[in-house]
Amino acid sequence: MNKDKVEEGIKMMLEGLGVDLNGSHFKDTPKRATRAWTNELCSGLGEQSFELTTFDIEPDYEPSMVVLQHIPVKSLCAHHLLPFVGEATVAYIPNKMLCGLSKLARVVDYFARRPQVQEKLTHDIAKYLRSQLDPQGVGVIIKANHMCMQMRGVNHDGTMTTSSLKGSFIKEGPVRAEFMALAHSQTLKKV
Ligand SMILES: [Zn+2]
Repeated sequence: MNKDKVEEGIKMMLEGLGVDLNGSHFKDTPKRATRAWTNELCSGLGEQSFELTTFDIEPDYEPSMVVLQHIPVKSLCAHHLLPFVGEATVAYIPNKMLCGLSKLARVVDYFARRPQVQEKLTHDIAKYLRSQLDPQGVGVIIKANHMCMQMRGVNHDGTMTTSSLKGSFIKEGPVRAEFMALAHSQTLKKV
C-alpha cells in the first residue's frame, strides 16, 4: 500500500472540487483521511494473510449446521467508493473441523475492508471458508444498504441481498431450505 500516493490523491480530489485546503477543518484532512482509508476502511488490502483457528471435531459428534447471524458488514462499493453497510449470515456444516464463532465474524470483516461489489464479497467469504474448513457445505447471505443508491442516482432506499451457497447447501434441498429460513427470519437494522 502506498500511503503517500493515497494522500496526494485525496489532496488532488479536494483541490479539484474547489475546497480550500487552508480552512481550519480541511488543513489536516488529506492526512487524516489517508489514515482512515489505509488503516481502517481498506485494511483488508494491507493484511498479508488471515489465519483461521480450527478445532478437530469429536468422533461422536454428528455434524449439524452452525449459523452466525447479524454479523456487521461495512464495505465500500467498487463503482463509487461509497459505503455499503448491513449484516451477514454465515453458516456451514462441518466435516472434520470447526472454527471459533468469532472467527466467522473476523473473516467477514477481513474481506469487507476493501472496495468491491457485494456479490464478490459474498462469494469470497464462502470460498475462503470452504477452502479453510473443508466443510460439507457453506452458505453466506449479505443484506446491505448502499449509499451510492441512497445519496445519488435514483436516491432509492434499496436493500440488496446476495447469497453464495456451496456443497450441501446447494445440492441438498432440506439443507438449503433450513439455511434460507434462518437467514431470512432476521430483520435488518436500519442504518
Ligand atoms: Zn456504487
